[in-house]
Amino acid sequence: MHELGIVFSIIKQVDGVAREHNAASVKEVTLEIGEVSGVVPKYLSDCWKWAVDNRSEFMKGCELRIIPIMAKTYCESCEKTYETVKFGKICPYCKSEKTYLLTGNETYIKDIKVT
Ligand SMILES: [Zn+2]
Repeated sequence: MHELGIVFSIIKQVDGVAREHNAASVKEVTLEIGEVSGVVPKYLSDCWKWAVDNRSEFMKGCELRIIPIMAKTYCESCEKTYETVKFGKICPYCKSEKTYLLTGNETYIKDIKVT
């Protein structure tokens, strides 16, 4: 599963940060997940509960918070931005196809709470 790989890579990074700071444990991790990143937050949470208890001595019972990031696309023709999920690749203002994704494809760690 795609989500499990992401969870493992996040745990690895957080685990590394915890070691670096000599933390006793990690209480909470906040992730930002883009709407069109292909990550399903529900699957991610399901993998998380199992993975934190098994993969890191610092992270047993660590909570996961997910902040969704709205996907936005920029149109080169009319220089406007619009909601990607609603309109796709074609600009709703000028019907141009010269558009590219600005935000919404990312998955990253925003915050880590340690004790
Ligand atoms: Zn446009």
